[in-house]
Formats: sequence, C-alpha cells, structure tokens
Amino acid sequence: MSKIYLDNAASTPIRQEVIQVMNDVLKNYIGNPSSSHQFGRRNKALIEISRISIASSIHALPSEIIFTSGGTEANNLVLRSAIRDLKVKRILSSPIEHKSVLETILDIARCSKIVIELIKLEEKGSIDREDLERKLKNNSITTIVSLMHANNEIGNLSDIEEIGFLCKKYGSYFHSDIVQTVGHFPMNVKNIPLDFAGASAHKFYGPLGIGFVFIRKGLLVNPFLTGGGQEKNLRAGTENICCIVGMAKALELAYSSLNEEKGKIETLKKYCISELKREIPEIKFNGLSDFLDKSLYTILNISIPIKNNILSFFLDLKGIAVSEGSACASSYVRRSHVIEAVSGKDPSSYLRISFGIFNKMKDIDALIDALIEIKKNIGKTFWVKI
Ligand code: PLP
Repeated sequence: MSKIYLDNAASTPIRQEVIQVMNDVLKNYIGNPSSSHQFGRRNKALIEISRISIASSIHALPSEIIFTSGGTEANNLVLRSAIRDLKVKRILSSPIEHKSVLETILDIARCSKIVIELIKLEEKGSIDREDLERKLKNNSITTIVSLMHANNEIGNLSDIEEIGFLCKKYGSYFHSDIVQTVGHFPMNVKNIPLDFAGASAHKFYGPLGIGFVFIRKGLLVNPFLTGGGQEKNLRAGTENICCIVGMAKALELAYSSLNEEKGKIETLKKYCISELKREIPEIKFNGLSDFLDKSLYTILNISIPIKNNILSFFLDLKGIAVSEGSACASSYVRRSHVIEAVSGKDPSSYLRISFGIFNKMKDIDALIDALIEIKKNIGKTFWVKI
C-alpha cells in the first residue's frame, strides 16, 4: 500500500539538511550550555548564533527571541505573562483560535478576574473588523488582542498589520499565533505593530518539540518558568541545543527557498481544487480555503455530504494521511470548533488536506482516486440527504 502524507499543517517532515546539523550537534557538542568552562561556552555560542539567525529571519532583535518547547508553550507564555506582568484585565480573541489559545484563556479566566470577549466572524470565518474596532474603542481596561495570522484548519489569513495598527490606535497589546505562517510567508516584525508572536519548528520542516516566542523588547520581565534563569530569566531550563540549531537551519532554508517552494505548493493546491470540483461536484470548500489569495497555500478544507465524519478513516485505510482538523484533537473524536463556527451543524464529513514541499502531483491524483472510490462504495449508505 502506498503511503501518502497530506497532513503538513499538523507537522511537516524534517529536511535532510536539518537532520545533518542536528546530528553534528548530538555527536560533537557535550556539556551544559550554562557551564562556564569551554564546553559550556561552546554550546552557549551555538544557541546565540541560532538566536541571531532566527531573529534576522523575522527582522527582530536577538534579545526579542525566547526559545520554547513549541507553539503551545509560546501562546501560554504570552497570555499568562501578560495577565501577570502587564496587568491585562481583558482578552479579545476569536472563536476559531487554536486550542492552545482558547483553552489557555479559559484556564486564566478560572483563576483570575478577567473579561473575555470573542470577536464576531464574517460568513466564511474572517474576523469582523468593525466588531474588533467597536470592542477596542471601549478601552478603559488594559487589553490584549490575541488573533492568529492564519487558521490551522481552514487556512484563512488575517491582515495582522491592519489588526496591529488598530490595537495600537486604541492602546491594546497585540499577540498573534503565527505558527502556520512563519517560514511560509515573509515576516517583518519591524513593520507590523506586534507585541508577541509564537512559532513552532515542526511546521516549517524542523524538529518537533521546539519553537520560539517573539516578545517586543522589554515587555515581559518575570519568569514564566522559574529555575536557573535561562532565556533571559523568562524560561528556565537547560536548553535543547540540538533542536534549537535544527530550528534555526530549518527557518534559514524555509526563507532561502520560499518563492520556489511556495510556487510549487500553490500549483498542487490549484490542481487539487480543480480536480475535486470536476470529480466530486457535491464538494464544498470550508472557510476561505479555496480563495488562493485569502488563505494559506498549504491548506485546503473540504466537506463532502457523507455522514459520520468517516472520510479520513477510509483514506487512512488506503494509506493516505489527511486530518479532520487540528492534530491536538485527533486522539478524541469531537467535531472541530472551527468547522462548527464557520459551517454550523452541517452533518457532512470534512477534511483538511495540507500540502508540503515533499508532495507531488501523483499524491493529489491518488487522493482524488481514493475519494471517488470511497464515494462509490460507501456513498449510498452514508450519503447525507440535503
Ligand atoms: N497554533 C497553531 C495555529 C497550530 O497549528 C499549532 C499546532 O498545530 C499550535 C499552535 C501548537 O503548536 P505546537 O504543536 O508546537 O505546540
């Protein structure tokens, strides 16, 4: 059975060049980067070189980059620290943020007295800009806005530059989860009025379990994790040098080959859309994912009128990996909060197909053939009556 991976939004396969630099670190670097002897100093230097490289990729200062275990921790660090250090009393967010933002906000609200307001969505899941401005205008309490750059399920892109300027106009802090766009779109934090942003290496062909958070200079000062004072005393714990070096290499490669790789993936997505429309006319595209200029070129989210959300299961049996939504939710069966927010209680099966640099046209052909066959074999029994 062939194995086809079309779940790159959940995690991208690691690049060979990244494995090579990580191997080198594992083999040739020993010791704790906080030790003052030559072994420690050599490791520390590697961390700082990686920090400079990552900072320059997004036009930040090296001191504005703090390493974390990934996007989830980055989002937690920002939101929890903002409440404590910046005396934030209100969080404005949206119903389709990643769970690492939504669950964190709910948890904060259980422990402290804060106001949570969710911005209204337009029909296809874009942020209602007027509602955001209306809520921002009421600025008598210290506020942080947390809105993602691109949605990880339906791919909708938000204009974080415009949102950032609105936040500044009304004196609010601005956090954006940029996990799905770092390494896939140019990112210049000098031009975007962004205070905080979190990223994750396994979304740009780097290793799992490592990420970083951008914190605008001087905004946070107290530790999120207490201990040995690493990471500018914000996040204690011995650094994962091998993964930090791998992440820096992955980001450098992502940006040096951005245009070429983006073009290749866009071609795959366009082809997939046209084949799906031709072969499965009942198909519906969720969110803005079929609008090439308004969504991530890596994500396509579809619904097919087949009951019980069984499509990804049958595709898996055929060796094709796609997902229903966020990977974090895949171990328990629950309808996606994002699909519910944009498509209501539509009982159709939905799928997130997400493309990456290692995919080929024949992967798309195999997916379409499999969907046609599934529809033929099980469609009559499971077809949703509209
Ligand atoms: N934010 C978004 C938009 C994501 O897609 C993900 C992962 O799927 C995360 C946050 C969490 O990142 P990590 O897996 O590094 O914890």
